[in-house]
Amino acid sequence: MVSARNDSRKIRRRDSGKVSGSHMQCGIRTRKIACEQQQFSSRLNALWIELVSELEGCQSEFKNHSTVLTDNDNPSERTSQNILTSTINHLAGRVREVDAAINRISSGLYGICIDCNKKISQARLKANPSAVRCLRCQAALERIQKSG
Ligand SMILES: [Zn+2]
Repeated sequence: MVSARNDSRKIRRRDSGKVSGSHMQCGIRTRKIACEQQQFSSRLNALWIELVSELEGCQSEFKNHSTVLTDNDNPSERTSQNILTSTINHLAGRVREVDAAINRISSGLYGICIDCNKKISQARLKANPSAVRCLRCQAALERIQKSG
C-alpha cells in the first residue's frame, strides 16, 4: 500500500517535470509551424471550395444530359456525357485529396510524406498543397503505376 503510493507520487513528479520542460520548446516550434500551415490551410480551404463548386456544376450538368439522353440517344450526347463523367471522377478525387490534406493539418501530420515519413519540401507543397508524398516517393509510385 505505502510503497504503491510512493511510486505513483514519484511518477507524477517526473511526468510534470517533463511536460513543462518540453512545453516551452514545443511552443516556439508549434507557433512557427502553425504560421506556415495557416497559409497552406487557407489555400487548401479555398481550393476545396473551388473544386466542390466545380464538381457541383458538373453534376448538375450531368443530370441535365441524362434527361436529354433518355429522350434523344445520340452519339455526341453520349461522348459529352463520358467526358463529364471522367471530369466528375477527377474532381471528386481532387476533393478527397484536399480533404485529406486538411485533415492532416489538424492532426499535425501535414507536410510529412506518408511513405517515408520525411518532410515534404516547402517548394513542393507550394506547388501542390495537397501533396502527401515527397518527390522521391511520388516518382517511385508513378514508376510502379506505369509499369503495372
Ligand atoms: Zn517520401
